[in-house]
Amino acid sequence: MSKIQMKTPLVEMDGDEMTRILWQMIKEQLLLPFVDLKTEYYDLGLLHRNETRDQVTVNAANATKRLGVGVKCATITPNRQRMEEYPQLTEMWRSPNGTIRAILDGTAFRAPIVLPFIKPVVKTWEAPITVARHAYGDMYKAVDMQTEEPGEAMLTFRGVSGTEKTLSVQKVDGPAVWQAQHNKENSIRAFARSCFQYAVDTRQDLWFSTKDTISKIYDGDFKRIFEHEYKDYQAQFEKLGITYFYTLIDDAVARVIRSKGGFIWALKNYDGDVMSDMIASASGSLAMMTSVLVAPDGTTEYEAAHGTVTRHYYKHLKGEATSTNPMATIYAWSGALRRRAQMDGLSDLAAFADKLEAACVETLSAGIMTKDLASLVEDGTITPRAVTSEVFIGAIRERLSAKLA
Ligand code: NAP
Ligand code: MG
Repeated sequence: MSKIQMKTPLVEMDGDEMTRILWQMIKEQLLLPFVDLKTEYYDLGLLHRNETRDQVTVNAANATKRLGVGVKCATITPNRQRMEEYPQLTEMWRSPNGTIRAILDGTAFRAPIVLPFIKPVVKTWEAPITVARHAYGDMYKAVDMQTEEPGEAMLTFRGVSGTEKTLSVQKVDGPAVWQAQHNKENSIRAFARSCFQYAVDTRQDLWFSTKDTISKIYDGDFKRIFEHEYKDYQAQFEKLGITYFYTLIDDAVARVIRSKGGFIWALKNYDGDVMSDMIASASGSLAMMTSVLVAPDGTTEYEAAHGTVTRHYYKHLKGEATSTNPMATIYAWSGALRRRAQMDGLSDLAAFADKLEAACVETLSAGIMTKDLASLVEDGTITPRAVTSEVFIGAIRERLSAKLA
């Protein structure tokens, strides 16, 4: 069988622990036998990030901008515990995702892969909820400090023209912690526009929520910019019969739980981080959440929303076969290949992406699945059989081969 051809490479960012193992399996079993895979490879594994003083992450992000499409494996964000685990680390390197998002800007759209035989925990949800998470600023670009004595903190902005704005943050009578956050109007505008565009492209309602009652200037600006940008999309929304709806985040959370699903929920950076895990778990399994970062210039980066699955990795190191779910990582690859195919006009490659996803769904429908899903099946016609990652990927390969024959 001749392999499906690619024109332009996509950026491949390898990662850590169990997901790095899955990454290799997916490439060997599901991609390389069928596609003449062209990638620009960047090893974002923790030790290589350390060796390059994290330059590899910056290079990978810039390459993604240049080539337009990237696919990323989950990576370790080092914390104190990781510093002990990897004594060779010279610094507590920042989150690679944070670094990449800061370079690409844009919005991360996260949606669960839904299957008819896996019912969400929230019984009213009939369709998936897509979280649109702003990918720039706020807590992720904040500066923090700790002080020991009584005193006062000031916040000063110095303009290039020489103007200055200062306000007192707080006077304290003892030790305190402080944080300063920012966001940029351009980035918020790009966030708003990508959400409206995504709503139009996928014909779904768009909800947006912040805490503008408390954060009147900061969150108030997000709300104002969304309202302003909506004017450009209003006619398209009305034509498609979809709506834009702003509400306070507390109210949104309550409404989401009572909703039927099937809409996009736009959220600020931190809110999106937290709420996407809630949506993922409530939809079934954390392992079924896909994520795509869409930058204002159209650059897209695909990944799974979950982490490196450390607990499973330590079992793997002990020689145990694990039942780690590769679905979101496979969909990151199919998403990236489909996007590459669209950009380069390659219909065979686009068809391959569709067939790969179809082979996954067929495998699950045959009851062959990883442990996390087996306990969630609510359909008498399917007898779930929990298998190892290797067996699961092998079963997908069989079905994919048949589709491509
Ligand atoms: P995690 O890797 O997402 O795993 C948390 C738990 O969720 C697992 O122990 C497992 O539960 C379940 N799970 C997640 N993905 C699964 C999968 N594919 N198949 C089966 N079960 C799955 O989160 P974490 O343990 O908090 O973080 C581990 C590392 O990942 C950290 O170093 C963190 O920095 C990093 N991280 C990276 C990213 C990213 O690169 N995008 C995102 C989040 C976290 P059971 O143990 O109960 O089976
Ligand atoms: Mg998170």
